[in-house]
Amino acid sequence: MSVVKPFKKVLVANRGEIAIRIFRACTELGIRTVAVYTEQDKVSLHRFKADEAYLIGEGKGPIEAYLDIEGILEVAKRHHVDAIHPGYGFLAENADFSKRCAEEGIVFIGPSPEHIQMFGDKVDARAMAIQAGIPVIPGTPEPIQSLDEAREFAEQHGFPIILKAAAGGGGRGMRVVRTGEELEEAFARARSEAKSAFGNMDVYIEKYLEQPKHVEVQILADRYGNAVHLFERDCSIQRRHQKVVEVAPSVSLPPELRNEICEVALRLMRTAGYCNAGTVEFLVTPDHRFYFIEVNPRVQVEHTITEMITGVDIVQSQIRIAEGYALSDPEIGIQGQDSITTRGFAIQCRVTTEDPSRNFLPEAGRLLAYRSGGGFGIRLDSGNAYPGAVITPHYDSLLVKVSSWAMTYEQAAKKMLRTLKEFRIRGVKTNIPFLENVVQHPNFLSGEYNTSFIDNTPELFV
Ligand code: ADP
Repeated sequence: MSVVKPFKKVLVANRGEIAIRIFRACTELGIRTVAVYTEQDKVSLHRFKADEAYLIGEGKGPIEAYLDIEGILEVAKRHHVDAIHPGYGFLAENADFSKRCAEEGIVFIGPSPEHIQMFGDKVDARAMAIQAGIPVIPGTPEPIQSLDEAREFAEQHGFPIILKAAAGGGGRGMRVVRTGEELEEAFARARSEAKSAFGNMDVYIEKYLEQPKHVEVQILADRYGNAVHLFERDCSIQRRHQKVVEVAPSVSLPPELRNEICEVALRLMRTAGYCNAGTVEFLVTPDHRFYFIEVNPRVQVEHTITEMITGVDIVQSQIRIAEGYALSDPEIGIQGQDSITTRGFAIQCRVTTEDPSRNFLPEAGRLLAYRSGGGFGIRLDSGNAYPGAVITPHYDSLLVKVSSWAMTYEQAAKKMLRTLKEFRIRGVKTNIPFLENVVQHPNFLSGEYNTSFIDNTPELFV
């Protein structure tokens, strides 16, 4: 029997498209929504999409305000909020925040603090994967303390290697080292960057894999030990280790390999006793070996394409799981792994206010015109995108996520291209011309791409 405590009111401790995405899920579930917004976000759309909205972080910086645990909890308590959804980024992977929520009797819609802690540290996450018998990239079992340890690793495994901040994320805090001469400076820089960006100077080393694919598996697990995977996404189209275009399911994995990766991911999360939504990420080499890289214990930007191919609403599932429902309860409706099937193909493009002709420099300013594409099989998840909207320089540059779905991959790519071409945006530059080049490139269409695709394909740049 599930022990359920339904939510009446949920606060979203986030902004932009993901805040709106979560409000929509709540409203469909009959839950009242609460937004928090900063001085800089006073006219941002997420503020107006919730039933209630409160200013936070007065006197604090635009980012610090969304990281202000006590300030956000105070709003939540004052307005009798039952649960908080952290979205992604900001406080989503902050174990202290989820602990503080619990202490205040507010449900954190996400995994336990212990799981956030375990997977927030890439060294601990690797240890967990090894314990579950899952292949990891050869690497140091602990953060390295000295240059000698780095040299020793390179001697044993050969170059290239990659230095990674243990607490890193979002494609930041990584440094590829190809020769011995670069090592000393790279090590010093990686440590100081890790310290300033993540407040923790721990750096460990992995062998750097050449031209892998990034394949990740979406997991849902309830608190009663039931877990399923929602198949995989291919997120190999990256710039500077950050995802730009994602595809579900992967178009080039042999079926046995795909099944094995999905099963291994599920095994890891079961072994860890994980609860709620999470993603297990792997790199797959050209000779079809796969290696664990990390777990993201939260909803991801690219969850939309998994929703499109499986029909499962991941955000609603997160909320239902946090209320105490079992996956098989009618409120979630997942009757075991066999009930999850995929249909067709989905592609997501991250449209950003960045100028591709100026090395993707973020743009700020007013949207003088904004008309989006649309039509059958198109899903738009936008933040602050409407005619007259002001794009501030304070936050990340994601403007709208465009997801396309069709029965075949080729049709989904064509639909994406057609939709991107329909957009009319004036006032700020966007990366749309670059995205158009990606989704019509022959290698994209054949599925023959890996994480070096963008770097190695100069004709994509406009
Ligand atoms: P983050 O947490 O910052 O997203 P990840 O560990 O998930 O970092 O890695 C992000 C991307 O960096 C991967 O998708 C891949 O392209 C690249 N990467 C990470 N580790 C390696 C490695 N050992 N070899 C090759 N590429 C890597």
